[in-house]
Amino acid sequence: MSINIPRGTQDILPGTVEKWQHIEKITTEICRNYQYKEIRTPIFEHTELFQRGVGDTTDIVQKEMYTFTDRGDRSLTLRPEGTAAVVRSFVENKMFGDPNQPVKLYYNGPMFRYERPQSGRYRQFVQFGVEAIGSEDPAIDAEVLALVMDIYKTAGLQKVELVLNSLGDKDSRVAYRNALIEHFQPRIGEFCEDCQSRLEKNPMRILDCKKDREHELMKSAPSILDYLNEYSRTYFEKVQSYLTALGIDFTIDPTLVRGLDYYNHTAFEVMSRADGFGAITTLCGGGRYNGLVSQMGGPDVPGIGFAFSMERFLAAMEAEGIAWEDDNRLDCYVVSLGEEAKDYTVKLVHDLRTAGIKAERDYQNRKMKAQFKAADRLQARFVAILGEDELKENKINIKDMETGEQQEIALDQFVETLRKKMEEK
Ligand code: AMP
Repeated sequence: MSINIPRGTQDILPGTVEKWQHIEKITTEICRNYQYKEIRTPIFEHTELFQRGVGDTTDIVQKEMYTFTDRGDRSLTLRPEGTAAVVRSFVENKMFGDPNQPVKLYYNGPMFRYERPQSGRYRQFVQFGVEAIGSEDPAIDAEVLALVMDIYKTAGLQKVELVLNSLGDKDSRVAYRNALIEHFQPRIGEFCEDCQSRLEKNPMRILDCKKDREHELMKSAPSILDYLNEYSRTYFEKVQSYLTALGIDFTIDPTLVRGLDYYNHTAFEVMSRADGFGAITTLCGGGRYNGLVSQMGGPDVPGIGFAFSMERFLAAMEAEGIAWEDDNRLDCYVVSLGEEAKDYTVKLVHDLRTAGIKAERDYQNRKMKAQFKAADRLQARFVAILGEDELKENKINIKDMETGEQQEIALDQFVETLRKKMEEK
């Protein structure tokens, strides 16, 4: 009996993996331009890291973690997101002492959540994310937003919308929290169990509830924007004015909350507005987390970051019908005829490859016609043909598959001639 892939995971096969590499190339280049450096943290961490770093009241920690006990009786968890581990590493490696502040990092790797799989939602998915830790300058908020929008734009996405909100500083949030409790408390019995327990622990998360979305009290709930104090309001206005200066469009949605305790000031999501993208339209989520580093045992330094999944990025590209030239086309297929010529091509193909030419030959003992067919399937730009006679005369035939032009050249000139021809293309 064969064994199938686990639910909520997928194989990224050749033919699709090139799309992933294409996006990885874009993210790497753009991060270099914005001076964000890559960080790689472990796939698993101590469970406590996420309990503290993501928050005990979140769905992720309460319902979705892949937690296990290892042979040494430690509780470990496959990482459900990237920020907690990056902040752990920031503290553990004392990056706050680095003269270059803020510390600007990016990551790209698999995350694991036990969610109900559906289109755009997997149990293993790959997140690309960015964290800028050590600055509370609205210009860094604008930079992080510019970076993500630059990535989408460079990939050709047009139907994306940046949605922005401010959660204010601690004082603003205390005032807002009280207003929310006052608003929901009298009728909290009409809400789901999760919301009932959220009322005291984290009332902002009620606004995020999927079950009670349509309840009339949701629509009439107070807006955070009315509770921002002077500092928070000015901060938010500054972020907006920088974005406007950068020519980045955005809309403001005061109901956009990122329910973790440590989130403050700028909160944002990027949505796909492409037709047929599916029910889940969020491509990217992020925000400022000024209390997190100290909560994780580090100094009281501010931070901001975002994450998007590659899976939804690719789905958005598909929904917008974006194609690109895959540059992995074969340069030269070497066709051979006869035992001696066949032996000779082992070295010949190797020489092409070490000269930086994408080359292939036959390993199935195929007839000449079938070798030509293989070259066609691989969309070879050139086919080189080596028969017994050519070998004896130290010659080889090159056929340009685009023009049909054929040329016989000296065997010892072959690699150099082909290299020149490739350069001309
Ligand atoms: P979050 O860490 O929940 O704020 O999610 C940030 C981004 O990660 C989302 O906007 C999605 O692009 C992506 N994402 C989150 N959960 C999943 C999932 N289960 N499958 C695929 N992508 C996900």
